[in-house]
Amino acid sequence: MTSTDVLVIGAGAAGLAAATTLRAGGIACIVIEAAVRIGGRAYTTAGPDTGNHWFDHGATWLHSAERNPLSELARAAGTKIIESDKLRRWRLQIGPRLATAAELAGYRAARERFDATIRPRAAQHPDIAFAAAMAPLRDDPWAATIELWEAAQIAAADPTTLSLHDWRINDLEGTNLILDGGIGAFLSRLATRAGPVECNTPATAIEWSDGIAVATPRGTIRAKAAIVTVSTGVLPTLPFAPALPASHQEAIAALPMGLLTKLAFPALGADRLGLPDTMSIRQQARPGEPAMGLFAWPYGAPYVQSFIGGATAWALARQGHAATADYARSAIAKLLGADALKSLGPALVTNWAADPWHRGSYAYALAGHAAARGTLATPLADGRLVFAGEATRTDGLAGTIGGAWLSGIEAAHTAMRSMS
Ligand SMILES: Cc1cc2nc3c(=O)[nH]c(=O)nc-3n(C[C@H](O)[C@H](O)[C@H](O)COP(=O)(O)OP(=O)(O)OC[C@H]3O[C@@H](n4cnc5c(N)ncnc54)[C@H](O)[C@@H]3O)c2cc1C
Repeated sequence: MTSTDVLVIGAGAAGLAAATTLRAGGIACIVIEAAVRIGGRAYTTAGPDTGNHWFDHGATWLHSAERNPLSELARAAGTKIIESDKLRRWRLQIGPRLATAAELAGYRAARERFDATIRPRAAQHPDIAFAAAMAPLRDDPWAATIELWEAAQIAAADPTTLSLHDWRINDLEGTNLILDGGIGAFLSRLATRAGPVECNTPATAIEWSDGIAVATPRGTIRAKAAIVTVSTGVLPTLPFAPALPASHQEAIAALPMGLLTKLAFPALGADRLGLPDTMSIRQQARPGEPAMGLFAWPYGAPYVQSFIGGATAWALARQGHAATADYARSAIAKLLGADALKSLGPALVTNWAADPWHRGSYAYALAGHAAARGTLATPLADGRLVFAGEATRTDGLAGTIGGAWLSGIEAAHTAMRSMS
């Protein structure tokens, strides 16, 4: 049996921020991580499948950079920061062809109608599903395109269940930054401040009646307080004794995991498919057409990246990586022509759906349940059991790595207060 003051469960952004804060406050803590690596949903690789260039499987952008705590930490660490908004271009396609000027104007006008109709509705009660709120725009030829972008691609969610309030609160604004070398790699460097992490050590049960006792395959760890940072996809698989209060159980159920599957297709040669660097291609969503975002040669990387989100991503994930890759290849062929595929190597397909330690990409609130994030963030046992992580943010940064980091800092302060 091992003992400590605070046990941190999970070494993603929230857990690492919590441990950094606890150590800075002179509090003894142990961090356990189920996976073989730290970083959680911030994970960078740079193998042959991405042309030996870095690729972030999970978090990529520092959104809302002005209030993102990682922006300042990256600057202080001397990390090269890429100003994404200045480099990123986008174009609109209808099937294989570029939208005409008139069609582009039509799309922009539809976005204005969306802003004028849906945003005010999102400030009203009752909270309804995103798709239900879109009903007045249904006849608009661009409504499905906007819905695909906002719900499946950005929120990674199913629009028929996504809370309109949750969508509005977490609608990203401000500057988007890229950390050269990848966010996962940056977080790993930052993790040295958090102290040692016991990887390969999943929590398998959490007792929280008389102090905290957490079972792991390496033995039980006792602590005065625990900070639980695992995703809402993993939380239902963790037995708590006593059971969590109904409020927390309901909050977890109301925060299902969305799915955003990213793919990278490495260039086989020098052929750049006629696309400049850092070009996002959006396509008009039409019945029977693949629903996918495409991002060519991001910031000079030698691969084309694609994003499949929401219900389509989940359905493909259930069929396996090959089905997801085939879907993306067929979408690329439809957008860029079948010959484009000859210039691209086999796809790297991210694995967030099947990964038992994440079970999705990030959480979204079900319609009518936008308050669930705040409920989950409410400490239990006078602050001795605290939930942290991206799903717990109520400040507009839910679903983001910056939000996860802030949640870890706050959870650490709550745990410290519980011991004073
Ligand atoms: C495809 C994708 C794209 C994204 N894009 C962006 C983006 O561009 N910008 C952005 O800001 N955010 C983005 N995100 C979201 C961002 O990655 C997450 O919000 C953030 O990393 C979550 O951090 P966390 O600490 O809350 O959770 P996690 O990173 O999931 O950390 C929890 C940790 O707990 C571990 N764990 C699980 N079960 C157990 C257990 N039983 N015992 C011990 N440990 C356990 C996990 O292995 C994990 O390491 C993206 C995510 C994905 C998947």
